[in-house]
Amino acid sequence: MARIVVAGSGAIGASVAYHLALLGADDVVVADRGELCGGSTSRAMGGVRQQFSTAAEVVLARESIEFLAALGPRFFRQVGYLFVATTEEGLVGLEQRRQLQSELGVPVERVDPSVVPGLETGDVLGATCCWSDGLADPPAVARELLRRAAELGVEVREHVAADELDREVLVIACGPWSPELAARVGVDLPIRPLCRQILETSPLSGLPHDLPMVIEEETGFHFRRRGDRLLLAMGDPEPRWTFETTVDESLIPDRLDRIAHRYPPAVAATVERSWAGLYDMTPDAHPIVGRVGDGVYAACGFSGHGFMQSPAVGRALAEEILGGEPSLDLSPYALERFEHGATFPERLVL
Ligand SMILES: Cc1cc2nc3c(=O)[nH]c(=O)nc-3n(C[C@H](O)[C@H](O)[C@H](O)COP(=O)(O)OP(=O)(O)OC[C@H]3O[C@@H](n4cnc5c(N)ncnc54)[C@H](O)[C@@H]3O)c2cc1C
Repeated sequence: MARIVVAGSGAIGASVAYHLALLGADDVVVADRGELCGGSTSRAMGGVRQQFSTAAEVVLARESIEFLAALGPRFFRQVGYLFVATTEEGLVGLEQRRQLQSELGVPVERVDPSVVPGLETGDVLGATCCWSDGLADPPAVARELLRRAAELGVEVREHVAADELDREVLVIACGPWSPELAARVGVDLPIRPLCRQILETSPLSGLPHDLPMVIEEETGFHFRRRGDRLLLAMGDPEPRWTFETTVDESLIPDRLDRIAHRYPPAVAATVERSWAGLYDMTPDAHPIVGRVGDGVYAACGFSGHGFMQSPAVGRALAEEILGGEPSLDLSPYALERFEHGATFPERLVL
């Protein structure tokens, strides 16, 4: 069987390698030029939602949920994702998406936002929630998949650039660094790095164990519980298209005002830790998954939501590489869509 080198040990590379091994591939190497799982996967918010604005994204997350749930609560807890709208326009957006998601079999409900104790709902006109969405620990999941892959015979190599290794098949799963490796094998990937940051609050007593991820539809401000703290995130006023991962501390007072308003139990919170990481953005915010050259496959460009899609993507790409019928139609994610102008932007990039 051909020697397959998976470049990148993040959530995507780990899942591709694990599924290749599960399907019987017996000569697979995962190589990471940095630390294992040390890329964007280690910086992520850990949200897992099936609530997107396009079918292509809904399906990838929907097909991943069962796998994540089977890993157990240490890795993934289905506490839900609650979207709240404060304008009529926002409410229409929620409802349109709810209809699409429901048609695709995702159990999204209209809910009374006061279902979340402590949430400020005075300005909220409506809310939707999917209770099978939830919160995960992305680097822990990726490490677990690498562990399982290694048990099945996959060689896992740290601090080794993939292009140093002999191979018949190359899988590019290098997140924001994917275009660099792709260029070395003659493939042009339209992916740009976007710097995004997360703020972690001081400990807060009495946070409900099952607090869902809460997202403001109009502003994109969102927060989740992690242990006895909250993680806060929101897009920057001006997108930062750069590989530099610095935290813009000038945004902290604004984010604290937002959490104090939306979730008054956090009124006394301060920010104790913060970090930044990179989204690997494509022009339409859908990933590039599939064959991109002779013996070259890509699984990248996840545009800030790749962790939650990694189980389904890993399985389908492994099936394609091994010549089987992919369990998912990968055609919406083909690189060629950019040439043919067949793009269909995903609007719900948080
Ligand atoms: C702030 C932030 C919040 C996020 N929140 C969420 C969220 O809530 N939910 C969600 O689903 N997703 C989220 N994401 C996105 C998510 O982190 C990624 O889409 C996901 O983890 C998949 O990452 P990856 O495996 O594609 O890339 P990465 O984790 O970046 O891994 C790529 C790896 O490739 C390695 N590499 C690079 N070049 C080479 C080479 N030549 N040879 C070998 N190795 C190489 C790097 O060292 C790196 O370890 C977030 C991202 C950020 C930055």
